[in-house]
Amino acid sequence: MEEATIQEGLKKYFKFDKFKSKLQKDAVIEVCQRKHDVFISMPTGSGKSLCYQLPAVLHSDKITIVFSPLLALIKDQIDHLLALRIRAASLNSKNTKSEREALIADLKSTSPNTRLLYVTPEQAATQTFKDLYKNLNTFNKLAYLVVDEAHCVSEWGHDFRPHYSKLGELREISNIPCIALTATASADVTKDILSSLRLKKDHKTFKTSCFRSNLYYDVFFPNMLDDPFKHLRDFINDCLKIKEEEDLPKGQKSCGIIYCRTREQTEILMERLNKLGIKTLCYHAGLKTHERLDFQDKWQNGLGILFVVHWGVPKDPASFYQESGRAGRDGKPSNCRVYYNRSDSKAVEFHLSQDLGKAGAREARKKRTEIAIKGFKKSSRVQEMVEMFLVKGIQYNTKAVINDTDYTDLYGGGRKGAAEEYEKGDSSDS
Ligand code: ADP
Ligand code: MG
Repeated sequence: MEEATIQEGLKKYFKFDKFKSKLQKDAVIEVCQRKHDVFISMPTGSGKSLCYQLPAVLHSDKITIVFSPLLALIKDQIDHLLALRIRAASLNSKNTKSEREALIADLKSTSPNTRLLYVTPEQAATQTFKDLYKNLNTFNKLAYLVVDEAHCVSEWGHDFRPHYSKLGELREISNIPCIALTATASADVTKDILSSLRLKKDHKTFKTSCFRSNLYYDVFFPNMLDDPFKHLRDFINDCLKIKEEEDLPKGQKSCGIIYCRTREQTEILMERLNKLGIKTLCYHAGLKTHERLDFQDKWQNGLGILFVVHWGVPKDPASFYQESGRAGRDGKPSNCRVYYNRSDSKAVEFHLSQDLGKAGAREARKKRTEIAIKGFKKSSRVQEMVEMFLVKGIQYNTKAVINDTDYTDLYGGGRKGAAEEYEKGDSSDS
C-alpha cells in the first residue's frame, strides 16, 4: 500500500493532519503491508490504537479482530470509532441475542460492513467464537488479529489474564498477521508476549526507547537523615516550586505521587506531610467506595505529576519503571526519588520468604510468591546500582535503571556504561 494512500486515510477517516510520531507512522505503514507480525511497545497515550485502526479501515474488504481486556476499554474505543463513522462492534457476554445475531449475520455476509470487531479474551475461548473465526478465515475475510494490552498474557505483567494466554491458539487456525500492542515491555514481559502469541521470527518491532531524558532519579537513606519527613517535605516543595515559576495550563495544579509498601505507611506519611504543610491524600485498597470516589474527584490525571517518590524499596523493576514513569508526562523536568534503607530490603525479603513457607502446597499462591521474590531480588539489584551511581556523584537516568538488558550490560560492563551515561545525563547535584 502506498504511503500517500495511508496519509490520505489518516485525514479522511481519523481527521488527523499528521502522525503523532515517526514511530506511529512507521508502524502504520508496516502494518498496512500485511507482510509481517508486528510488536508495538509505546507508552500510554502515544496513539497505539491508530496503528491498527487505520490499517483496518484501509483494508475495506476485510475485518480486523481486536482482543481487549475490559468491556469499558472496548466501549470507549467503539464509541470513538462510531463517532468517526467507522463501523466497529463488539462480541461480548453483554450482547443481547438480537444484537449478536445481527452482528454475526453481517460478518458472514458477502461484503461485511463491520471493519473492527472487539472481543474479550473470555469470549475468544468460546466455541461460537472459534467457529466464527474459522468461517471468516475460510472466506478470506480477516485482515488482522490484534491483541491490545498484550502484557496481559504474561505473569510478569501487572495484570495477568489467564484467557489471554489462549489467544495464541487462534494463530493455528489462520495465517493472518498478528499485531500485539502494550505500554509495558520489560524484557520478561516482551519474551512472554512473543512466545505466547507466537509472533513469527521475522516480526517487526516498534518500540519507544525507555530513555526519558526529563526524569532525574536519586536515592536517599532515611536512617542517615536527621528527619526524613522534613527532607521529603523540602524535596516536594522544591519540585513544586520549579513549576510555579512557569505558566501552568489553566486550572491545572501540580502534584506528585508517593508509593509506599503498606497501608499503614501511607497513613503515617499523610498525617506527617499534612502537618508539615503539604496537602496529602492517601489511596489504598482498604478505602471505602465513597472515599475512593472523593479521592478520584480531587486527583487530577497524569499531566501535572512533577515528582514520584518511592517510600521504601520498589516492588520490582517493572513496577518501578511504570510508577516513576508517571512523572513528567508533559516532557518537563521531573524528579523520581527513592527513600530506602538497606535493612528494609532485608525485611521485605524475609516477609516474602515467610509467605512462601505459608503458601505450602497451594500452587497458585506459591507461584505468585515466587514471582514476587524474583521481581524483588531484581529490584534490590537495581538499588545496588543506584547506590553505585550515587557514590560516584552521577545523576543518572531511566535508561540506566530500567531496561533489563541495558541494565545488565551496564552493571556487568561496569565503567564504560557508567561513563556513557554520565555524558548523556545531567551531572548537576540535586
Ligand atoms: P495508547 O493506546 O497508546 O495509550 P491511544 O491510541 O488511546 O493511545 O491514543 C491516545 C490519544 O492520542 C487519543 O486521544 C488519540 O485520538 C490521539 N491520537 C492518536 N493518533 C494521533 C495523531 N496522529 N494525531 C493526533 N492525535 C492522535
Ligand atoms: Mg491503548
